[in-house]
Amino acid sequence: MRKKLVEVLKEKGIKSEEVLQAILEVPRHFFFDSGFLEFAYEDNAFPIGSGQTISQPYTVAFQTELLNIKKGDKVLEIGTGSGYQAAILHKLGAKLFTIERHRSLYQKAKTDLPTWGYRPRFFYGDGYKGLPAFAPFDKIIVTCGAPYVPEALVEQLKPEGIMVIPVGDNDVQKMLYITKDSNGKINTQNTGDFAFVPMLENKE
Ligand code: SAH
Repeated sequence: MRKKLVEVLKEKGIKSEEVLQAILEVPRHFFFDSGFLEFAYEDNAFPIGSGQTISQPYTVAFQTELLNIKKGDKVLEIGTGSGYQAAILHKLGAKLFTIERHRSLYQKAKTDLPTWGYRPRFFYGDGYKGLPAFAPFDKIIVTCGAPYVPEALVEQLKPEGIMVIPVGDNDVQKMLYITKDSNGKINTQNTGDFAFVPMLENKE
């Protein structure tokens, strides 16, 4: 089933062999409740509780491809959710820091992922603030729809760093590919429309 999913992603335009290999290796069904296993290898988002969703595999592959992860990259993820995207980044050799604002999702990912061999550092908190104590980061990925690009995240990006963030209203967001050059100059490109659950400003 994972091989089939990889074929679907290739047809949709994902090219990175490393990303496709990671999708082939990470068992997405681990991130689903046992009653919903048959949905795990469809190219769709799916509810994970607390009103949130595990991102569509194509979206995970697309964002990960843009990040161009190199082994040892220090990466910040906003929106741990199910932890699937985190597992893919870990598999690619990222040193990952991931933040979630829903306590129950944070707890579940922090408990489950290490038992499956994925060991990012988990934080319960507000993604708008990033993680100043651990900054700067080579790469930053936001996996919820942000109303604007949080300034704190731009500040926490290293020179030569890459940030991928969906920005827009609640229904549709533009996937922004933001780079910072060696002088700290920011360049932003729009890579297309996506739909995410919203990035929320205040805690539950
Ligand atoms: N990367 C996840 C996607 C989950 S959906 C996965 O692979 O499953 C987006 C997640 O972002 C949700 O779990 C939501 O609770 C979280 N989120 C929303 N606003 C946030 C914020 N301000 N800070 C951190 N996480 C946030």
